[in-house]
Amino acid sequence: MSTPSLEILQQRYGHLPAGELLHGLIHEALPGRVALVSSFGADSALLLSLVADVDKHTPVLFLNTGKHFPETLEYTRHLTDQLGLTRVLHLTPDETLLSNIDSTGTLWQHQPNRCCWLRKVEPLERAVKELGIEALITGRKRYQTAERAQMHTIELDEQQQLRINPLANWSKEQLQAETMRRNLPPHPLVAQGYKSIGCAPCTRQVAAGEDERAGRWAHTKTTDSAQKTECGLHVTQEH
Ligand code: SF4
Repeated sequence: MSTPSLEILQQRYGHLPAGELLHGLIHEALPGRVALVSSFGADSALLLSLVADVDKHTPVLFLNTGKHFPETLEYTRHLTDQLGLTRVLHLTPDETLLSNIDSTGTLWQHQPNRCCWLRKVEPLERAVKELGIEALITGRKRYQTAERAQMHTIELDEQQQLRINPLANWSKEQLQAETMRRNLPPHPLVAQGYKSIGCAPCTRQVAAGEDERAGRWAHTKTTDSAQKTECGLHVTQEH
């Protein structure tokens, strides 16, 4: 089955509310070729719930980097069960690459971009190819960063991969209200001051008044180089 062009997808579905947008793409435009990438982090529950409403069998790709907090792994199990999701796939780094590139598990300290490639980018690219996925659902929002302020609900990334951003236009207040209305459980570390949750070595608590992503890759900030702020995936709100 051919893939509709970006323009057609935007015209037909781009203006729809999140649930209808997801329904149209998952069931009409790209059946069997859409997956959700989720970090099961601080802001993940709502999008997982919206996708579960549309089709509980939608592939959910969780990048199990081997560096997550135990609380994240437990939360992954808990949310999966609560929402009735049937295809949460744990994507792990390639064993050979892992032993060749990061045998000590400390690559994140010196080369975080390479570590993110090894533990996130490569496993995701491999899974997308193996599963025949043509569009990835992301939890990115316009309000999060200046780079994201202009993004569309349906777009192409740098690799010409279709991305679906059902929450792009939502405000933080709308997200919180809908999350409460659905009675979705928070990630257990949120109560401890974590606002954006990724791998344990690269995540710290955020102080009052700090940007919610200030706790990500904080160890990479030096006087002569910019702080790392993204993992290279650009597909979730928290990776
Ligand atoms: S977030 Fe940190 S530990 Fe996780 S893959 Fe990236 S550099 Fe490695």
